[in-house]
Amino acid sequence: MPLGAHMSIAGGIYKAILRGKSVGCETIQIFTKNCNQWRAKPLTPEDLARFEDARRKTGITPIFAHTSYLINLGSPQDELWEKSLAGFLVEMERCAALGLPYLVTHPGAHAGAGEEAGLRRIAQALNEILAQAEGSGVMVLLETTAGQGSNLGYRFEHFAQIIEDSFYPDRLGVCFDTCHAFAAGYDFRTPETFAKTFETFEATIGINRLKAIHLNDSRCELGSRRDRHEHIGLGKIGLEGFRLLLNDRRLCSLPMVLETPKGPEMKEDVENLMTLKNLIRT
Ligand code: ZN
Ligand code: MN
Ligand code: MN
Repeated sequence: MPLGAHMSIAGGIYKAILRGKSVGCETIQIFTKNCNQWRAKPLTPEDLARFEDARRKTGITPIFAHTSYLINLGSPQDELWEKSLAGFLVEMERCAALGLPYLVTHPGAHAGAGEEAGLRRIAQALNEILAQAEGSGVMVLLETTAGQGSNLGYRFEHFAQIIEDSFYPDRLGVCFDTCHAFAAGYDFRTPETFAKTFETFEATIGINRLKAIHLNDSRCELGSRRDRHEHIGLGKIGLEGFRLLLNDRRLCSLPMVLETPKGPEMKEDVENLMTLKNLIRT
């Protein structure tokens, strides 16, 4: 499977590809704009040309994106919801322009309106977005969450419900975040618990919907509903869970990226990637 990490776009989007290459990534995840702002400068032909050039020279593939943190497709407030739709659509367009296959997003938070209302709101938002981004060719990947606060996506049933309510089910997939799923209560640290979690995934969502994996260990306990990423093998998941994941034949073609803490030199990425590669049975 292609292994990599989330890479910063500071100084230009194409730089994320070069950073990824410098630490040995085969795949990367990026933000297509500043993840804490609504606004973004439009991409210029030069931005796109540099990106394409870096992609060709490094061979890094796939390159996919994650939405900004401001977006909440589940918001019960019309103003934030509309703003989220518009912002999401801009990100879909940026992904299409850059030739990225996937845009990963947290499904959304109901902010007190209740889970059922939140899930309906998310499905409605995605229907509007996908109608407007009809020809983009970009697939939305809904990410499993830890379920902090009123965030939805901490039960596999939430994804099943959103997909069932979608007019465009073929354009929806799922991204499994190991830290989030573990914090949400899905154990996979032993062959037995791993089998059970992925049997449940298959029965509720279908493993064919799974398109990407975020590899993060968890600082917090199983079922803690708290989202704190830890370096691979140093958290509550531990190496065995990652060994099972990396050697499962159903998952071996999926891009897997780290979202673990790192400094500007990214030595931590090099170490985590080494740890992961050593777990793969050849
Ligand atoms: Zn995420
Ligand atoms: Mn993640
Ligand atoms: Mn997280």
